[in-house]
Amino acid sequence: MTDMPSCPFCMRPKSSRKYKFETCAIHQCSGCDLMFLHPKPSVDALSNVYDDRYFVNKQFLSSDQSHLYGYVDYIAERINKQYGYSRIVSDIRDRLATNEATRSPASPRWLDVGCGLGYLLDVAFDQGFAVEGIEFNPHAVQYMQSKYTYPVRCATVADMELDKKYDVVSLMDVVEHLYDPFADLKRIRSIIADNGVLLLITMDSGSFVSRALGSRLEDFRRIREHLFFFTRRSMKSVLAECGFTVESVSSIGHTFALDFLLTRFALVSRPLAALLRWLIWPRWLLDANIYINPGTKMLVVARPSAPGTKAS
Ligand SMILES: [Zn+2]
Repeated sequence: MTDMPSCPFCMRPKSSRKYKFETCAIHQCSGCDLMFLHPKPSVDALSNVYDDRYFVNKQFLSSDQSHLYGYVDYIAERINKQYGYSRIVSDIRDRLATNEATRSPASPRWLDVGCGLGYLLDVAFDQGFAVEGIEFNPHAVQYMQSKYTYPVRCATVADMELDKKYDVVSLMDVVEHLYDPFADLKRIRSIIADNGVLLLITMDSGSFVSRALGSRLEDFRRIREHLFFFTRRSMKSVLAECGFTVESVSSIGHTFALDFLLTRFALVSRPLAALLRWLIWPRWLLDANIYINPGTKMLVVARPSAPGTKAS
């Protein structure tokens, strides 16, 4: 593999190869910092990933990298995920309330792009939002439609109608999966109300821990589904180009059961994970929930830029 592709965002020629895997590599643009998988998997190969095993992938923890996608048991993560989401949704409500134009509309409209099994929509619904979701995994959509009454469509961003406006559009652990995130974010810009909010969670590829662990980090190793990796700087550039101004970027952690955390840590270092597990006493501590923030994920809140604002 000798070709050094140009950056798919700023088009600067000759990226540098950062992390090499058997069949592909993650490259980084020296101009804008964006990291991207090369070669990109075909659309067919990607659609095979989002199958009925995506949310309960029992082979995830095998040493075979081809199984490293989706979730070991997403259903079991529901309570902890929703605990984190409830604080985020409250924060967004507060942000909307500070703005004259979005203060107390009957029910502010929230679209979750890549809504998975609806964990975020559930929380936003409970906090008074009129919620909708789109999701490109048909199995997840089937599950959602059998469980909830609010609208969920099997669609990609490119399929979305542009005749509605939303007060909030969210992409939680989604932007790194998009085949063309630049086109999709521009399209999303056109359906956000001028005083609305764009909310993103994605990996922070420039954080200390991300750089220190490199290709051992699970987010980088998910080469069947993660196509783009953003630093804070490249995220700001991409959003500016797509018509957004970043309002805040913060590091975000997650609440895990200790047992679950050690199981995942074994993907980074099996001997160290085994040692830590052996050291934990009393054993019931393995079931305890702990909040951990290694700084590998960022929460980005952005607003539509005023018309005529130039990307810098
Ligand atoms: Zn670039």
